[in-house]
Amino acid sequence: MTSDPALSGLTGSIIHDEIVPARAPWLHHVAAGEVLRIVDLEGNQAVDFLIYAAADDAERYSAQDTVAAQGNLFLRTGTMLLSNEGRALMTIVDSAVEYHDTIGGACSCESNTLRYGHHTKSQHACVDNFLEANLTEGRGKRDIVSNINFFMNVPVEEDGTLGIVDGISAPGLTVDLRAEMDVIVVVSNCPQINNPCNGFNPTPVRMIVAQNANA
Ligand SMILES: [Zn+2]
Repeated sequence: MTSDPALSGLTGSIIHDEIVPARAPWLHHVAAGEVLRIVDLEGNQAVDFLIYAAADDAERYSAQDTVAAQGNLFLRTGTMLLSNEGRALMTIVDSAVEYHDTIGGACSCESNTLRYGHHTKSQHACVDNFLEANLTEGRGKRDIVSNINFFMNVPVEEDGTLGIVDGISAPGLTVDLRAEMDVIVVVSNCPQINNPCNGFNPTPVRMIVAQNANA
């Protein structure tokens, strides 16, 4: 039996291990103390990410609170991902990529047509994935808030302009998130093909949940 490098450093038993196909949505409940590892299997794949408190999904990820609390726009190892109630939903406990984005937003048919032209209207987009996954638990459009973009590189230029540029991720790189309370994770494995956020070629990612012996 060969050991799987994607599991290295995880402690406790592996309780979930799933490949999310390119362009697909994903929803999973992660209990307090468990660690979710996202593996960017082929590199430069944006993983659009929302978090809801399982006990009451009116409490959800807040980019504003997270950025304000840490005084920095980028999400790195050690960042606490805060809710709209100011409580920690998850913590980035390890990241092989220097930083992740939370200001670039999720792609939608509407933003695609504005940025890239009307011919992109029928292309699949992250907002569709978020809706599809959320609808399975009764959440709708109003429940989609500003999200995290793991493995996406959105630098801020000197004049304040946001760039969406070539990724800083690479095949096999990972980010580990420890749940600080019972949470619902909703993901869109970004289908965008009009900018470099997915290297113009959306690819699968792997989601591994470990029980975390250190919890
Ligand atoms: Zn997207």
